Amino acid sequence: MSASPPVERTFWLGTSWKMTKSIAEAAKYADELAAAVDDIPNHVELFVLPPFTMISLVAQRLAHTRVRVGAQNAHWASSGAYTGEVSTSMVAEAGATIVEIGHSERRAAFGETDTTVNLKTKAVLSAGLRPLVCVGEPWEEREFGTASEYVVRQVKVALAGIPAHDISRVMVAYEPVWAIGDGGRPATASQVREMHSIIRAALVDRYGEAGEAVPLLYGGSVNQDNAAELASQEHVDGLFVGRAAWTADGYLSLARLVATTVQGVSA
Ligand code: PEP
Repeated sequence: MSASPPVERTFWLGTSWKMTKSIAEAAKYADELAAAVDDIPNHVELFVLPPFTMISLVAQRLAHTRVRVGAQNAHWASSGAYTGEVSTSMVAEAGATIVEIGHSERRAAFGETDTTVNLKTKAVLSAGLRPLVCVGEPWEEREFGTASEYVVRQVKVALAGIPAHDISRVMVAYEPVWAIGDGGRPATASQVREMHSIIRAALVDRYGEAGEAVPLLYGGSVNQDNAAELASQEHVDGLFVGRAAWTADGYLSLARLVATTVQGVSA
């Protein structure tokens, strides 16, 4: 019997623009991405998360491409007196198909808790969208030796009440708080490998085989120098990038890099 060809591994590469860019800058980024994306191999799944005000514009400019557009947050209620909030159906109408939930900046600065992350994850699923649930420990949890319990609890609470038939739409991003943003230092490959395998075990424990298929992304100071090593770790199914992908050129060069790194690796 002849050996089967290597299965190409789907690999996710997403970026959140956080609170950056003007409308004109967003349009330029989207156009540059649209012009170049056909050269990125299909096994790399791409998504961008602009600020709310630019979702519609970016989704329109990328509509004829395979780049997915998402939101950085959404409220759990479907509508009502929630001044300043945006619902899942509103972001869906604007063109989002992915919603980031529970980023550590939102947990630290805007009162996001494991409970609100759970409510939002369920709301995103009910709206037919894909939640990208962010988890990650502060540095002191590593010093205490409690990082894995901390992260597993975040995952378990985020997914509480979510049935197995919905889990295939969930993505999880492991983003240690100490690795994110200016002053953050990237996690080492072994730290990422270890925590991803702990998260994977928790997902499999809860959902069986379906837990194997949940994409686990790593985020936190990913850049051109570390992306290939991080992308090649076991249970790393994608990278979630802030600063290094805030230009279309930066994002596209990371996409080319990971495309080569993960090519032909068995799923
Ligand atoms: C993030 O905040 O989710 C992130 C990954 O940011 P950065 O890549 O800039 O550390």
